[in-house]
Amino acid sequence: MDLEMKKIPTISSICEGGEGRYTYDALMYQDILRYSILHNYDYPAFKTFTVYGLTGYLIDHFSPFINEFKELSKRNKSRHNKILSKLDGVKSKVDDLVNLGLIEQFEPSRASRGSTITNRYQYTESGCLIAWILEGAKSRKKLLAEEQLYNLLDIDYVDTASSHDVFVLGLYTKYRQRGVFGEFVIDILRARLNDSNAKIMNMKELFLNLGVLHFTDKDKATLHSELWSETMNELDEEMKKYVLQNIKLEIEQEMERQVKYIRGFEELRYQLRNQPNILALEGVCQSCGLPSPIQIEIIEYLENTKLLPSDPILVRCRICKKYASITVPQI
Ligand SMILES: [Zn+2]
Repeated sequence: MDLEMKKIPTISSICEGGEGRYTYDALMYQDILRYSILHNYDYPAFKTFTVYGLTGYLIDHFSPFINEFKELSKRNKSRHNKILSKLDGVKSKVDDLVNLGLIEQFEPSRASRGSTITNRYQYTESGCLIAWILEGAKSRKKLLAEEQLYNLLDIDYVDTASSHDVFVLGLYTKYRQRGVFGEFVIDILRARLNDSNAKIMNMKELFLNLGVLHFTDKDKATLHSELWSETMNELDEEMKKYVLQNIKLEIEQEMERQVKYIRGFEELRYQLRNQPNILALEGVCQSCGLPSPIQIEIIEYLENTKLLPSDPILVRCRICKKYASITVPQI
């Protein structure tokens, strides 16, 4: 039995190795996604492509292929034969991206000439989003990438807008007006893709927690906090509640990944299930040294810990009962 398992690709596979040290597979995923930029300039009118056409593009643009076909023994191969020799490898990468929801495969149709069956593909909105996030790294394409990404996100939200989506879109609009959309959205998404410690399984995880950002840079934090409060205050009371609950759920979900005393955290989170304004977290007690569940008002937490970090907030330990012995963590 072959024990070597095929690696299951994730969104993180696209930037595996991190910027400057990308793996061969990561570079190929990136160049395949980049092909979408040629194809979808006229978004939302998507064009379709074939693996044959894509492979031709890669022979001209994917550096490992370019180098390989510079070799004396392969230099004089016909273009058709070069493409054929790479077709299967490219096809398997396209299949990976189909599984990740970045490319969509259509029902096979007959090619225009002859009787061969040709599979046609199309990039999805998510595929285009990732292509533009990566493209935004190049300074000369930065503004164009911002424009394209903003449009994609905008369209993305129209049909399925939850209260949280409306809030985030409101934030994006303010970022655009203040010229910080690139820094506050694209740079963060790109950093997440390139973080080799993070395992981002799908698009939902890539976009998680974008409703509240944390900046260590004081000027950025101040501007973000200002825009955040403005956007929040423009919502009606009903929507505000839903947005805060959504943020609460995201933070608690992230906290759950980091807690050391899971049962205690679960108990507190359960007790607070009917209070969308109070957050369950965990901190380590400086007195007894144990991880302990803690609770805090969500607005207080967001304003003082996440948006505009000030002096640390200290709370009581539920285990040894000592006051002000646990620092509220920044999740
Ligand atoms: Zn304690």
